[in-house]
Formats: sequence, structure tokens, C-alpha cells
Amino acid sequence: MSDATLGAATRKAAGLKAAAQEASALKAEKARKLDAEDPLAAVRSSFVLDDTVYLDGNSLGALPAHVPARMADVIERQWGELRIRSWEESGWWTAPERIGDRIAPLVGAAPGQIVVGDSTSVNVFKALVGAVRIAGDGRDEILVDAGTFPTDGYIAQSAARLTGRTVRAVEPDEVPGALSGRTAAVLLNHVDYRTGRLYDLPALTSAIRAAGALAVWDLCHSAGALPVGLDEHGVDLAVGCTYKYLNGGPGSPAYLYVSRDRQDAFDSPLPGWNSHVEPFGMRGVYEPAAGAVRGRVGTPDILSMLALEAALEVWDGVSMTDVRAKSLALTDYFLECVDAYVPEGRAECITPYDHGRRGSQVALRCADAGAVMRALADRGIVGDFREPDVLRFGFTPLYVGFADVERAAGGLGEVLGEDLGEDLPEGLRG
Ligand SMILES: *Cc1c(COP(=O)(O)O)cnc(C)c1O
Repeated sequence: MSDATLGAATRKAAGLKAAAQEASALKAEKARKLDAEDPLAAVRSSFVLDDTVYLDGNSLGALPAHVPARMADVIERQWGELRIRSWEESGWWTAPERIGDRIAPLVGAAPGQIVVGDSTSVNVFKALVGAVRIAGDGRDEILVDAGTFPTDGYIAQSAARLTGRTVRAVEPDEVPGALSGRTAAVLLNHVDYRTGRLYDLPALTSAIRAAGALAVWDLCHSAGALPVGLDEHGVDLAVGCTYKYLNGGPGSPAYLYVSRDRQDAFDSPLPGWNSHVEPFGMRGVYEPAAGAVRGRVGTPDILSMLALEAALEVWDGVSMTDVRAKSLALTDYFLECVDAYVPEGRAECITPYDHGRRGSQVALRCADAGAVMRALADRGIVGDFREPDVLRFGFTPLYVGFADVERAAGGLGEVLGEDLGEDLPEGLRG
């Protein structure tokens, strides 16, 4: 290359860089404006956060700031001083139903239908076997979301073997065509954990019920991120975890919803003593309690459960409509910034652009996704990587802001542009 060509290339690169800087200044300015108008902006201060951009709340929600002091009281006073008395005096015994009722409005359920306890996996088992038992002997097939989170699929296989049914994997969109008089139950994920795609719970539930089958929904990636409307849409059974968008803490207990009209027929495959009509009667014969309590199994994990109960206070006064609006605005803005910052062709978005089909995360497919996510973490941007090539960015409306979104997309643009950067003359990199 002659000196003259080099000069031209340098000028061109400098011009490109100036244009890029201007574009990012505009994006940062827009982020400031969106943050200033955000009705949920103040909720962020209820959480323990630092200057990391935390986009992994769809895997482990952040810590609400008042939880440590509450847990100190639970451990030191309730356990340390009151000891056995706390089962009654501190409300330990009734915590599973009480906390279920606190989750209920977040998923559109009236009180008395949700019980908290066990893991999501265990609740999938209870819900699915319970659904198959209600459907009755003539129905020998269980349909399962073909893209399901793996644990749901594994549990469904075992539930089918135990109940003498077979499992068929079906794409959620194809469920209406796959339903028949043989269908006992359909297990679906409301939002796909990998792509962030939202499925049409009202329409699918209504098709499933019209076929005489039961609809079992896994809400792990929707509860706390968008309105669910369990009662309104006639869902039969549902499960979900509480450590993602509900911020209950690592391994916090999951929940089981059994709709009012299915409760009397619900025959739990795990009828532990906590679900007995008279648990302290110590009777030799099982007789199930009525209502949500029927979903309980054994002694609840009180420490995790009470941490969850405290964590749920951050929802006081928060409207799920505002949460959904902000979630969509955050993911829209992220997609806009990614479009502006990420070199063309370097990443492919697998999350739907259509709001009606989008949950609260954006998933991008790209080469070397694992290395890309590590490079982002080095820049203080935390998302996660899912095999084989997916970058996941979760947007938790209670504590993620628009400036975070702009910074994350900027970091991603830098990381994915790095090999382009090598082509720039020395002084222009950075
Ligand atoms: C996170 C998640 C789970 C987790 O199950 P656990 O038993 O709580 O570990 C299950 N299903 C879905 C769809 C999930 O996203």
C-alpha cells in the first residue's frame, strides 16, 4: 500500500469511527430519556446491584435489599429464640399457602389455588400425573412441548411410564392439530427458555380444553415478566420457579397452581403428610386436604421459603401492565442498539420481533458464543450462554434500565467487532 492509499484508508476509518461515536452518543441520550420516563425506575433501588449490567435475572434474580435483615430475624429470633413455637407463632406451617396467595396476583389467579414448595421439576411431576389421572383411562397420550426445558421432558417421560401413557413431542404451534380423543394432557412452556419466544397461552389452553384434555403450563420464564392470566384463560394446572423473575434466591421453592374447578379431582402422586386433611392426626390412612394444600408434600424448606416471601414484597404497588410495557420497551431498545452496534452478519436474533410472541429475553445466535459471553463478562456485562451457540440476555423490568441496555449492546458490538478492529490502523483501535 502506498503512503497516499494508507492516508485515505486512515481518513476513511477515522470518518467511520466518528460516525459510530455520534450514533452511540445519540443512543445513550435516548437511553437517558427512556430512563427518565420509566415509571418503574425507582424499584431498582430495592435491589442490591452494582455497576455490572445484570442481564441474567432470567436465570437468577437479583437480591432484594431487605432480605438479609429479614433472614437474620428468621434465623436468630424465629429459629434461635422461638424454636418449635415458630411453626405456629411465626406462621411457618401455613407459609406454603400464604406465599402462594402472594404469587397468585402476579399470575392472574384468585387466592387458594397456589401452593409453594419443592422444585419446579417435582411440581411438573405432581401436575402432570395429576392431570393424567383427572383425564381418565381412555386417554393414553401426553403431548409435550418439543422445545421444552429438558427437565420437563424427562419428568414427562417418567410420568408417562408410571401411568401407562406415551409421550409425543409437538411444537406448541402444532398442538391444535395434534389433539385428539387420546390426549390426556399437554405440557407447554409459556416462554421458550432458549429463544425467548412467548406462546399463545389463551388460544392453546382453549384448544386443549375443547379437546377434553388438560392444559399444564410451565411459567418459569413468564411469571414476573408479563401477565399470565391463569384464571381468565381457564388453565387447569401450572408450575413455575421463583428464583428467576420473582427473585426468591438460589434454589427458592417453586409453586403449583391447581385451578379451583380441578382441585377436588386432583389426586397427587406425592401425597405426603403435609397434604393430609389432618396432618397431626398421624393417621394410617391417607385423606387429602381440600384446596391448594393438597399440592403439598413434606415439611417445607422454611428458610428458602421465607426469603422468597420477603423478596416478593418488591412487587407491592407494581402493576404487571407496567412490567410488560417496560419489558417490551427494553427488548425493543436492545434490538435497536444491537442493530446499530453489531457488525452485520455476526449474530442472528432468534427471538421474535413481534411483541405478541416475545417474552422478556433476547437470544442471539453467533459463532463462539461461549467465548463472546466470557468477553462480555470481562466488560461487566452479564448474560448467559446456552449450548450450542446461543447468547441469552434477560431483561428484568424491576431493575434493568435503558442505559444498561445501551451499554450491553455497545459491549457486544465491541466484542463481535473485534476481528474487524484488527483491520483498522493501529491508532484507531480501541
Ligand atoms: C428454570 C426452569 C426449570 C427449572 O426447574 P428446577 O426444578 O427448578 O430446577 C424448569 N422448567 C423451565 C421451563 C425452566 O425455565
